[in-house]
Amino acid sequence: RPHTQGDAQFLEDESTKIFARKVADHYSARSNQTLEEREASPIIHLKKLNNWIKSVLIQLYTRRGDAVLDLACGKGGDLIKWDKAKIGYYVGIDIAEGSIKDCRTRYNGDADHHQRRKKFSFPARLLCGDCYEIRLDKVLADDAPFDICSCQFALHYSWSTEARARRALANVSALLRPGGIFIGTMPDANVIIKKLRQAEGLVFGNSVYWIRFDEEFADKKFKSSSPFGIKYTFHLEDAVDCPEWIVPFQVFQKLAEEYDFELVFAKNSHEFVHEYMKKPEFVELMRRLGALGDGNQDQSTLSADEWEAAYLYMSFVLRKRGQPDKT
Ligand code: SAM
Repeated sequence: RPHTQGDAQFLEDESTKIFARKVADHYSARSNQTLEEREASPIIHLKKLNNWIKSVLIQLYTRRGDAVLDLACGKGGDLIKWDKAKIGYYVGIDIAEGSIKDCRTRYNGDADHHQRRKKFSFPARLLCGDCYEIRLDKVLADDAPFDICSCQFALHYSWSTEARARRALANVSALLRPGGIFIGTMPDANVIIKKLRQAEGLVFGNSVYWIRFDEEFADKKFKSSSPFGIKYTFHLEDAVDCPEWIVPFQVFQKLAEEYDFELVFAKNSHEFVHEYMKKPEFVELMRRLGALGDGNQDQSTLSADEWEAAYLYMSFVLRKRGQPDKT
């Protein structure tokens, strides 16, 4: 039977759902590591560096009392960072049931977390759901508007289709107040495509990661293909093994403008480190986290392969147009 337009749409919807499930199951299955397991990870310094980047973004753009929306919050690894920023309210949402469960445990006082920490000083609401499918403006109508939205290491999961990429941006835009801030970290498409073009085949990587593109991208040109749905498999040692999608940044920025966002900045992680390691307070934070040894040299404790993996990511800051209310 020849395919009709309707069939093609149906098949696309089905495979999109299957991939979203795959991503959710992957993250759900990842249990909490003990402190010892974490320290023994081959990418421990990369994890620490990424935590430093997220902390810097949070400290730069959060004000005391802010209402925060954490899209794809995972196990709540950023809860402490938000607490330090003295936020007033937190909503975290993630597609992976297992991760939201861990996040809830962490928020309520983690029994396995060795030291008994005091409860977080802000109220929180934690939800399980697909941020790139659901109309979050309806689900979170009573919680909005938010001052800041953060989507860390997860926005690329929305680029499987144009509809999902649009839903992601529409959700954030609808929930942020005028002048509100959208921060995020995601794979840097420029770096990934450059590496693919330099690779002999469709696979490249090092001892801590590999990326494999599907056969359909064998010509490596991407000239005529849609900017959505450019899928690859990402493997990061001890962290990720998932289908992911390229987010061409220029297209992302243009699309974001349609949803009333203006770009504040976008920086590859290497550039980000160079820039913010000029500031004493962030050097001190790096020293405390232990990602870069004493903080004076770039890679003193990060292995060369981890540093190369860091280069795969970029951070962005967008501002929702309009002036905040004077009240
Ligand atoms: N933001 C957290 C952090 O920085 O620690 C978690 C990052 S983890 C690499 C990616 C997260 O994105 C996972 O928790 C995963 O379940 C979540 N995710 C992927 N697709 C999603 C979707 N469609 N809706 C909500 N969360 C999603």
